[in-house]
Amino acid sequence: MTQTFDFIVVGAGMVGAAIANGLAARGHQIALIDQGTAPQFSAGDDPDIRVSALSAGSERYLRELGVWDDILAMAATPYRRLAVWEAPEHPVARLMPVPPPRTIFSARDLKTSHLGHIVENRVTQKALWDRANRQPTITLYSGAGIQSLSGNDSQITATLDDGHTVTGRLLIGADGAGSRVRQLSGIGVSRDQYQQQALVASVRYRGSPEDITWQAFHSSGPRAFLPLHSAGPAHQGESWASLVWYDDPSVLSDLKALSETAFIARVSEAFPEELPDLTAVVARASFPIARQHAHRYFHGRVVLVGDAAHTINPLAGQGVNLGFQDALCLQTLLDEARRQGRDPADPSLLARYEDARRPANRRMMLVMDAFYHLFSNRRTPLWAMRNLGLGLAQGLPFARNRVARYAMGIDERLPAPVETLLRRLPTPWKKAG
Ligand SMILES: Cc1cc2nc3c(=O)[nH]c(=O)nc-3n(C[C@H](O)[C@H](O)[C@H](O)COP(=O)(O)OP(=O)(O)OC[C@H]3O[C@@H](n4cnc5c(N)ncnc54)[C@H](O)[C@@H]3O)c2cc1C
Repeated sequence: MTQTFDFIVVGAGMVGAAIANGLAARGHQIALIDQGTAPQFSAGDDPDIRVSALSAGSERYLRELGVWDDILAMAATPYRRLAVWEAPEHPVARLMPVPPPRTIFSARDLKTSHLGHIVENRVTQKALWDRANRQPTITLYSGAGIQSLSGNDSQITATLDDGHTVTGRLLIGADGAGSRVRQLSGIGVSRDQYQQQALVASVRYRGSPEDITWQAFHSSGPRAFLPLHSAGPAHQGESWASLVWYDDPSVLSDLKALSETAFIARVSEAFPEELPDLTAVVARASFPIARQHAHRYFHGRVVLVGDAAHTINPLAGQGVNLGFQDALCLQTLLDEARRQGRDPADPSLLARYEDARRPANRRMMLVMDAFYHLFSNRRTPLWAMRNLGLGLAQGLPFARNRVARYAMGIDERLPAPVETLLRRLPTPWKKAG
């Protein structure tokens, strides 16, 4: 038997589960479908290897959805400072009498209590799934993926791997970077694979939870520290953190093959002295990184959000923050359409969504690419330019704070001179569609 809904959301990752909750809270009937099963969390477990830096903008959205307190009750680590600098490995840097400049963004300068939170993906997802299960207008189908789509002028039908069929007026594809929805609806995608990959490690260290996240840029890629919560009574005086090491895939595969002791020794030697004393490594995984942009955000009765529409280099941890902004924007427009009695798949409505989100997502892609290319290059003029940039950023609190507000999701745009600079940057990083 086919069940009928207002909206079908395919993919109950962080973004899909968020928009499903947002729409359901306004009374829309939702089918929420995920091929995976319910995310699990139990205090005292080792952390999920996948963590995200959630911006103040994402916090505000998750609060509106009624899940922020549940996230805080499980585990979320606020960070009040964010530091970036270039590792002094360039030959010219070694001749300098002073270390390269560090740019430090601080909550105090912005007169706010924190810049963001580091949250395990399973925590955010679990809070959203639990909320979805409490919403009478959401029917959650888990453990079966989407197999095919069919439709007519007024509705779309999705058939799941287990034979279930569901019908709605609009299908929202939130099924991640390899989106089957995107593929089934014939929406093309531009993809550029970066040479670097990211190795993520869940580690324990001696000390209390830190309130700083930092990133040191090496020519082979950044090395980053993201603080997590206390390791609890089982490991008195210790805390968790997530480390990210971007590098050539062959380097990362050697690192993954090391014993725990050898890995700790190698990381302690390669990371900046700010890295606390590591005591354990409980998980390591590497991820290919690619910039992807769907050629269109909608087609017929299908619309894409989150990683299904775009992926960016994770070096500044903005992927899911952009996805939440897509979700909020689309949910607002769909709500407006219902109030006006309009078809939610009206192309002029969905075009407003794409017109609002594509430039914002593309802007963030360009910023990430500019960082990637500037810092992966050992040429001396570029070395001088980026250190001048970091020095200026530190010396000009107003500009620094404006960049921080953009990264935190408070401001939609970068300061005008930075936007102009990005527009003028030469290829290769202008290709993002
Ligand atoms: C190393 C690394 C670090 C990152 N760090 C950050 C960070 O600090 N901050 C940040 O904002 N972002 C970060 N990101 C990016 C972030 O993880 C993604 O942007 C985010 O997970 C995208 O969420 P999503 O819900 O759109 O997609 P996904 O998280 O990919 O969720 C997709 C969901 O769809 C389901 N699904 C897939 N196919 C089907 C199907 N055929 N049928 C039904 N269901 C399906 C999956 O089971 C999954 O639940 C990072 C990414 C990487 C690789």
